Amino acid sequence: MNMHFRSTLRAELASLILILVIVTLQGCGGGGGAAADVSCADTAAGTYPAQATSAYVLPYSVGETYMVGQGNCTNSSHSATVNQQFAYDMLMPVGTAIVASRAGMVVAVEERYSDGTGIPGEENYVVIRHSDGTTSRYIHLTTLGASVTLQEVVVQGQIIGMSGHSGNSTEPHLHFDVGDGPCTPHVDTDCRSLPVNFRNTSPHVNGLLQGQSYTAEAF
Ligand SMILES: [Zn+2]
Repeated sequence: MNMHFRSTLRAELASLILILVIVTLQGCGGGGGAAADVSCADTAAGTYPAQATSAYVLPYSVGETYMVGQGNCTNSSHSATVNQQFAYDMLMPVGTAIVASRAGMVVAVEERYSDGTGIPGEENYVVIRHSDGTTSRYIHLTTLGASVTLQEVVVQGQIIGMSGHSGNSTEPHLHFDVGDGPCTPHVDTDCRSLPVNFRNTSPHVNGLLQGQSYTAEAF
């Protein structure tokens, strides 16, 4: 192998590694506006539950307003290919109170990881199972940021933890999603992502919109 070929190969490898790093970091919480997956959005349109009678409220305190940094059906981390097409990333400072979007039982808690590592798999979270077998997930909580314990029964609107920046997160935010089964974090094959609307905020038919801010109103 001559020197020229070797340096070309090295440059190609370097750019390949750079691309891989960018793809990995695109993870959750991009406030820069993740690209829409139009076919996913077209398929999903009309399948969201009616907002006025939705079982869900926004997962933060009444009176507070946060922006959706990454919405549903966006390429990379909220795509159908990773079974999180109906997830929301809500941008908020580390330590923001997170409330139960719907009543249920706590079925998974992780809170040992540090904020800001950016390492996939180091997410802190609370997972709540509802009476119909569906599950809500609250991900990227801060270190020791869970204020509930396993098998605890929680009511809607109860504080369950504090938001953070743990795991595969590009900026402080809450990743919230709902699935039709256990939805074990890091497994993700034991449920399908479900479309969700929230009854205590401004009108939205096909889910909250990326780039829009939503205030949690009394419910
Ligand atoms: Zn997310």
